[in-house]
Amino acid sequence: MSMDLTFLGTGSAYPSPHRGASALVLRTEGDCWLFDCGEGTQTQLMRSPRKASKITKIFISHLHGDHFFGLPGLLCTLSLSCSAQPGQQGAYIEIFGPQGLRHFLRVALQISSAELQLSYAVHELEPSSDQSPCTGRLDAALITCSPQRHPQEQPGKTVHLDPDSDCYTLIDDQKFLVQAFRLYHRVPSFGFAVQERDRPGRLNVELLKQLGVNPGPLYGRLKSGHSITLDSGRMLHPAEVLGPAVHGRKVCVFGDCSALVGSGGRRACEGADVLVHEATLEDGQQERAVEHGHSTPSMAAAVALTCGAHTLVLHHFSQRYRPAGERQEGGGGTAAERHEGGGGTAAERQEAGGGTAAERQEAGGGTAAERQEAGGAHVSQLKVQAELSLQGSSTRVILAEDFLTVPVPLRERHPGKTG
Ligand SMILES: [Zn+2]
Ligand SMILES: [Zn+2]
Repeated sequence: MSMDLTFLGTGSAYPSPHRGASALVLRTEGDCWLFDCGEGTQTQLMRSPRKASKITKIFISHLHGDHFFGLPGLLCTLSLSCSAQPGQQGAYIEIFGPQGLRHFLRVALQISSAELQLSYAVHELEPSSDQSPCTGRLDAALITCSPQRHPQEQPGKTVHLDPDSDCYTLIDDQKFLVQAFRLYHRVPSFGFAVQERDRPGRLNVELLKQLGVNPGPLYGRLKSGHSITLDSGRMLHPAEVLGPAVHGRKVCVFGDCSALVGSGGRRACEGADVLVHEATLEDGQQERAVEHGHSTPSMAAAVALTCGAHTLVLHHFSQRYRPAGERQEGGGGTAAERHEGGGGTAAERQEAGGGTAAERQEAGGGTAAERQEAGGAHVSQLKVQAELSLQGSSTRVILAEDFLTVPVPLRERHPGKTG
């Protein structure tokens, strides 16, 4: 019944020693689902309390390197742990992400002659044309795969936007409804809403025994909502012996964005227990953030308010902001610290590999003078800005940092009240 989120990387654009590139794990009853897989995610996993071998599903929000460059490497390493159990059927991993991901992964695994002991499938989401400027749309040639699948690749689906819900339905089973929704970014980006199904309440075993119903299949029938007939001929209805239903939790993870597209996201995230949203730059840099398809803390807070979210978790911070655990210094620090804060030579930034050149520029703090100036900027100001925007609401704000685990407890809900 426990559910939690563990952040593996909370930095934007590229991984630094203090903040990994984007990745987080949602753990539910033993299963782990990974959201985004930036470069270095596998080493971040090793340093975290979560086990890579528990990952069964991977969700990629968009095709910027800082969100998916870690994927081929992670799959290869997962495969190694599968091969340690000869004779057993290997793991099967389902991957969801924008069009182009299947091609990328197929080419990366084929070119590197990767021999996987696990099988995988890529289910691609078809974006709409209003999710990015036209420069962000992939050429058809980049979306079209070579017809030959990797030997371990299973056929994947193409998931289309459902016009009624304005969402993409990714998983719809007894335990979860998982929907993706559209976001605006420099390339098409998606958010994911994970809704746990409501569960029936506890059976009143004492009362059942008094009525002469002993533990067995009849208990299951009552729990699944069916009435049963007692020996006396009386009908016993589930409502007479079941406690209040346990409301499922809702966790929403947004990809990079400066806005929602359509109404799907707002509806899918309504009443979210936890809403994870990016806050790349501070409020004072809103114009610049929006220009690059990103958000500030008050923009994230506005989304949380619209959705009536109970908890807003901020992440995807520009590497210019000093981490929460680090003491504040006026623009100085050691050379290593300055490097972490987005400095280093152009070649070093280039080497760091995440995102486009524009993203690195944006997150690396622009000019040397700007980086120097930002050397004293502390990530905690982003939390303060979100809290100011949320004054008067009951939404609380959490600032994510690498390896932070945020529990998602079951909540009492009052009729007619969300959030
Ligand atoms: Zn990013
Ligand atoms: Zn991005």
